[in-house]
Amino acid sequence: MTTPTIVLKPSSNPRSAAERGAILADPGYGRHFTDHMVQIRWTEGRGWHDAELVPYAPLSIDPATMTLHYAQTIFEGLKAYKQPDGTVATFRPDANAERFRASARRMAMPELPADLFVAACDALVEHDRAWVPDTDGSALYLRPFMFATEVGLGVRPSNEFLFMVIAFPAAAYFAGGVKPVSVWLSEDYVRAVKGGTGSAKTGGNYAASLAAQAQAAGHGCDQVVWLDAVERRWVEEMGAMNLYFVYGAEGERRRILTPELTGTLLPGVTRDSLLTLARDLGYVVEEGRISTEDWQRDVAAGTLTEVFACGTAAVVTPVGSVKSAKASWVHGDGGPGEVTMRLRKALVEVQTGRAADPHGWMHRL
Ligand code: PMP
Repeated sequence: MTTPTIVLKPSSNPRSAAERGAILADPGYGRHFTDHMVQIRWTEGRGWHDAELVPYAPLSIDPATMTLHYAQTIFEGLKAYKQPDGTVATFRPDANAERFRASARRMAMPELPADLFVAACDALVEHDRAWVPDTDGSALYLRPFMFATEVGLGVRPSNEFLFMVIAFPAAAYFAGGVKPVSVWLSEDYVRAVKGGTGSAKTGGNYAASLAAQAQAAGHGCDQVVWLDAVERRWVEEMGAMNLYFVYGAEGERRRILTPELTGTLLPGVTRDSLLTLARDLGYVVEEGRISTEDWQRDVAAGTLTEVFACGTAAVVTPVGSVKSAKASWVHGDGGPGEVTMRLRKALVEVQTGRAADPHGWMHRL
């Protein structure tokens, strides 16, 4: 089967510069979408076909469309950043393409070739380039996704799918400066089990997280931290971000630990990038295990000095305080730590083209 080329059918009626300017002045998050979208269809026996860039528009869906019932759906999230020379570049789209293929395998969906995934993102960014914001900390968020489109009820893999990419301008996550989050250790709910779908970026994982997130909010916390499903003590990840633990005080050799990929957490592109950046900066970096008891004890002992979360949306976010049904504690003075902010700056500078890109992460358009 051949890889289709994306046929361009741009909008004859895009929003005016004035309308776009008003949105870009206050884009919020995930509220205003750009003028175009990309769609590519897959049909059993035919493969990928009808790849096109078209005006952004609602879809018309039959009520018996399989995805509405059985949630055979996956998605991705990545950003395009304005560069100092005025060009635009996406951050590691090939890594998102590979994770999308891995999610597809787990959900019995067809694997979109990585080059077609990247070409679809490129086509959208090229046509909606004017929507890439250029204020500090802002970016164009790209949302590639795929879902079962076969009409008919009965639990089995769909024989038709639709892959799409849409985009929205995203304001700086921390408009008033980086603010540490408070977290709730979820001991009632779990996100993933061995053999489950935890390492796939599939809609059901997020639906299942909402009750736990509401519980965290009910305890006055910003985010939920997921623990392993068996012992409910090994730390996995936070909301839709991965976690990092920083050992050692200022002036000492710092050791940085992140939970290893056991199949129950999402392998974040930001997590992976920080493993490399932290090594570049001379830190000792480890993928391993940390329990909630270790977390509490090591903070009390003063050896665990900073904790932060990382992901595409908020890049690097300090964790200021922790609460569970049994205990609560604060990290340092509750403010952002030095290593956290150093890593954050190092990553943002690569993404925004203000630092060299020795690992070839930026994909220029
Ligand atoms: N964990 C979960 C559950 C997520 O949804 C995300 C966001 N994709 C992450 C971690 C962070 O991944 P990334 O760095 O690729 O955004």
